[in-house]
Amino acid sequence: MDRAEQLARLRDPAPFDVAVIGGGATGLGVALDAAARGFRVALVEAVDFAKGTSSRATKLVHGGVRYLAQGNVALVREALHERALLLANAPHLAQPVPFVMPSYGWWERTFYGAGLKVYDALAGRRGLGGTQFLSASQTMALLPTLRREGLTGGVKYWDGQFDDARLAVALARTAVSQGACVANHCAATALRREGGKVTGLVAKDRESGESFALVARCVINAAGVWVDAVRAMDIDAGGARRTPIVAPSQGVHLIVDRDFLPSDHALLVPKTQDGRVLFAVPWMGKTILGTTDTPSEELALEPTPFRSEVEFILGEAARCLARAPTRADVRSVWVGLRPLVKPSDEDADDTKAISREHTVRVARSGLVTVTGGKWTTYRAMAEDVLDRCFAAGLLEARPGSATAYLPLVGAPKRSSESLAQPPGEHLYGTDAGTLRALPGAERWLWRDGGGGLSEAMVRFAARFEMARDVEDVLARRSRLLFLDAAQAAAVADDVAALLRDELGERFDARASAASFKALAAHYLEVP
Ligand SMILES: Cc1cc2nc3c(=O)[nH]c(=O)nc-3n(C[C@H](O)[C@H](O)[C@H](O)COP(=O)(O)OP(=O)(O)OC[C@H]3O[C@@H](n4cnc5c(N)ncnc54)[C@H](O)[C@@H]3O)c2cc1C
Repeated sequence: MDRAEQLARLRDPAPFDVAVIGGGATGLGVALDAAARGFRVALVEAVDFAKGTSSRATKLVHGGVRYLAQGNVALVREALHERALLLANAPHLAQPVPFVMPSYGWWERTFYGAGLKVYDALAGRRGLGGTQFLSASQTMALLPTLRREGLTGGVKYWDGQFDDARLAVALARTAVSQGACVANHCAATALRREGGKVTGLVAKDRESGESFALVARCVINAAGVWVDAVRAMDIDAGGARRTPIVAPSQGVHLIVDRDFLPSDHALLVPKTQDGRVLFAVPWMGKTILGTTDTPSEELALEPTPFRSEVEFILGEAARCLARAPTRADVRSVWVGLRPLVKPSDEDADDTKAISREHTVRVARSGLVTVTGGKWTTYRAMAEDVLDRCFAAGLLEARPGSATAYLPLVGAPKRSSESLAQPPGEHLYGTDAGTLRALPGAERWLWRDGGGGLSEAMVRFAARFEMARDVEDVLARRSRLLFLDAAQAAAVADDVAALLRDELGERFDARASAASFKALAAHYLEVP
């Protein structure tokens, strides 16, 4: 995935069939699906693949136990189906993980256990393992750091977890392998319109300032929480403003050390004090605690957590863990914005009640907007988008998406390494050999267990994964910023020096390292 090559393809005046705005889960899924059907596809991403919400998920590939409790059986069934496909298509990046739901009352175990049996039934033969009822001592054996007092038992069930940003990069690489042209650090700045119809877009390379005018039969707006800004570019002759369709809701995660939850089992607290669920998930040698659901108006690329959100997560963790994590234990705090679709009555105050389903809208101009949904269902969303393009006559129908059984670039047949382990070569799947052959395979910039971040990983990110700056490497190719922001800042200069070596003179190593360190400071600010 060579960026210069991709930009050269954007310069080609031949029209595209599909132009996608946004390189998160949704846009990349659409680009891959369309390319796999043989369409000529271009995708532009303003910053980096998964820079938006798609690197900030709780990292669960799940049917959504919570949505089952809300009675949304169709959503859960679809997500369970997609869960199985994703785990099969990218086993190095998405894997089954067992969850334990502890119970502190006499009825909870039976009640939640029954619900999870329904969850198993909905998964059918695609289930990952049967739900089991646990005694209090069995529960403690699986989660030794759980609060023992008042524990009456638990329920064990199965779901999936993944590395969201690396999966996004794998999707981008797979889309390229299917013939798509994808460019990061390249923002759509305007839509081309003729006779009231959208006929393409203008994109600007943020590195060189070069503009590209793309002609496309079909423009897909997959800009996540920013879809309304793109819709605003689609102003008709009368200058009519579009009513926003997204009600953003922010979710905070805190990362703490693994010894707060030294287990390969994740913990689900089924009912927090605000009626949500709280996850504590072992991930890449650390523990993710989260999340929150707070209506938010600000659409910052790097949203700020509220003090009340941090207090909520720490407070709920303290209620169920024997040793309560404090602010001082937080290695990184990161915030994502959910692109929830506004209900038609515009009553968006309670974001927990807004549907997690996605929406696809085709404007009179032909601009197709897709938003909402979740990472787990990105592939099904892409199929829906293509179906809507066919139904609207924007593209001629081409049969069946080939993506259901399409392994992503790097996918091995199976992976024996758990995502709970510190990051390492196993995340590269079949590319591990290429990685090992690069200079610096044994030179570690940061070491954790048998893995960490090697010089070769930085070179791999620049050569094959289109990383363009220190942040691209440390936030999304490696996940060190999310795992331990102080440690990430400590290796920023080394990463910058290696990128300079890979990207050449034009790369400003000092500026890139400095801007990354400022970002890392933001991930360390625990209000
Ligand atoms: C806190 C939280 C936890 C979550 N946990 C899970 C989970 O565990 N499992 C799960 O399945 N789902 C989860 N989700 C949902 C999931 O993360 C999102 O549904 C998904 O990532 C949305 O992807 P997207 O591509 O629509 O948006 P984004 O990832 O935000 O992508 C949109 C992209 O568009 C780009 N863009 C914007 N404007 C332009 C422009 N003008 N030109 C070019 N590019 C542009 C942005 O830079 C951005 O990269 C979670 C969400 C949140 C907030």
